[in-house]
Amino acid sequence: MSRIGTLSRRGLLLGAGATAGYLAGRAWAPGLSQLDGVPRIGGDLMDPTRSTPALFLNDASELSATPIHVHSRPAAHGDALIEAFRTELSAARAEGRAVCVSAARHSMGGQSIPRDGHAITVDDAWIEPDTTAQTYRVNGGARWRDVIQALDPIGFSPAVMQSNHDFGVAATFSVNAHGWPVPYGPMGATVRNIRMVLPDGDVVTASRTENADLFNLAVGGYGLTGMIVDMEVDMAPNQRLAPAFTAMPAAEFPAAFRAAVDDPTKPMAYGRLNVTRETFFDEALLVTYSPTEDQSDIPPAVESGWLSYAASYLYRGQVGREGMKDWRWWMESSLGPRLAGESTRNSLMNEPVITLDDRDPTRVDILHEYFVPFDAFDGFLEACRDVIPDAFVEFLNVTLRFVDSDTDSLLPHSPTPRIAAVMSFTQEMTARAEADHARMTRALIDRIIGIGGTYYLPYRPHATLDQFTRAYPRAAEFAAAKRALDPQLTLRNNLWDAYLGEL
Ligand SMILES: Cc1cc2nc3c(=O)[nH]c(=O)nc-3n(C[C@H](O)[C@H](O)[C@H](O)COP(=O)(O)OP(=O)(O)OC[C@H]3O[C@@H](n4cnc5c(N)ncnc54)[C@H](O)[C@@H]3O)c2cc1C
Repeated sequence: MSRIGTLSRRGLLLGAGATAGYLAGRAWAPGLSQLDGVPRIGGDLMDPTRSTPALFLNDASELSATPIHVHSRPAAHGDALIEAFRTELSAARAEGRAVCVSAARHSMGGQSIPRDGHAITVDDAWIEPDTTAQTYRVNGGARWRDVIQALDPIGFSPAVMQSNHDFGVAATFSVNAHGWPVPYGPMGATVRNIRMVLPDGDVVTASRTENADLFNLAVGGYGLTGMIVDMEVDMAPNQRLAPAFTAMPAAEFPAAFRAAVDDPTKPMAYGRLNVTRETFFDEALLVTYSPTEDQSDIPPAVESGWLSYAASYLYRGQVGREGMKDWRWWMESSLGPRLAGESTRNSLMNEPVITLDDRDPTRVDILHEYFVPFDAFDGFLEACRDVIPDAFVEFLNVTLRFVDSDTDSLLPHSPTPRIAAVMSFTQEMTARAEADHARMTRALIDRIIGIGGTYYLPYRPHATLDQFTRAYPRAAEFAAAKRALDPQLTLRNNLWDAYLGEL
């Protein structure tokens, strides 16, 4: 059968399954609590304590509205970007205000917003590949879709990027995000050097051999060290890949995942767990991709398109409907494997974040992520079963990824090889939901720190200061180095204000 034929049959069946599930789901009334008469929070951009309306910025949480002084959006790279950074920096220093550079602001707790300060949003594609060195030089403000678009025609692909292509390259480095190609560490491990504007306006190059202390502070340093202008990053050959699916009891996942990660014929791998409350996290699905025999005429990268949009309706149908969670698990673990076809490394990573849009103004999706040592996975499953099903927020999805040890950052989420559990919750935009979400997050973080794991810093700032320092034991060292580099504390955001600045 031709590839087109396979695709349309697959699309038809998947579309039919998703539509049937969606219609069935609509027929079942969702078991959600009533919102009538309950005040909403978030998204309100007026500050009643000010006499004049202030300028506010929010992030993907829709719960971080923060007053700022000014917002600039330099569409620039190289010297022009350095100039734009220096202009904001000197104005802010003269006024005693904060500065923070951001890209897509998909962090979820004000980590990309300077309170009452100068906010800078960068977005400008400039990419220069070097096929001999297998690296590319890239503007810090470039988005991953720009990188894929530049590398795909020359047969290459980002070595590591996060799963959605809308995010900024320097932002990914600044949170030290990870992807799902294996057996890589976080994205910072694939960065050779960076150029950044320091808080005093100087431009430096930093790498593992030049200004290594600044490199270590900047990787996973949430923009508190310098404003990244550009960077040299590893790329990998693009490949045509075919998937394989293995369902198993959740307790067997770590051994199967480790074997897949160690298998050089499987360059991409991830896992999933079932999310129905009654059988929560009992079953796992391991998905791996291997190169096909024929690597000629690799097709151009495509976005996931309408199939992802169709799947997103099925995904949304889960909100308040346990039966739909079962349906989705069946689709993913039983129907999906029979329909899945070949793709390319670039197409698999070329996913826009819009497919995750919840289309519901009363709710918002909030992510969590935990980094669990392989031998502590049982404890992780137990902690999640104890804490999550009982919460007021609705749990929708978990994806399991591999992250190798991070030996660069002072704030490493993965000091040893980890299973990264990326979790998605949907919550009402109400004070009651926010309070219960904070309670649940703290309970989960306690349990996961107790088994030697860590939590991820770009999400809601619900951890206590004590939990933060237990998960990130070098945080005080980071804060002291930051104070020495930036005594006026010009580069600031809510990660500093809520946590590091307290140390
Ligand atoms: C839907 C979704 C999917 C996600 N998928 C993944 C994933 O697969 N893997 C993963 O690890 N994480 C993932 N995350 C987390 C994500 O990596 C971070 O939230 C990341 O920061 C988002 O990129 P951004 O462009 O929105 O960054 P922003 O939120 O704009 O910025 C993040 C940080 O980087 C700093 N920064 C940005 N640009 C610069 C610069 N030029 N110089 C210095 N500092 C800078 C900011 O100050 C801020 O502290 C996901 C988040 C969401 C919401």
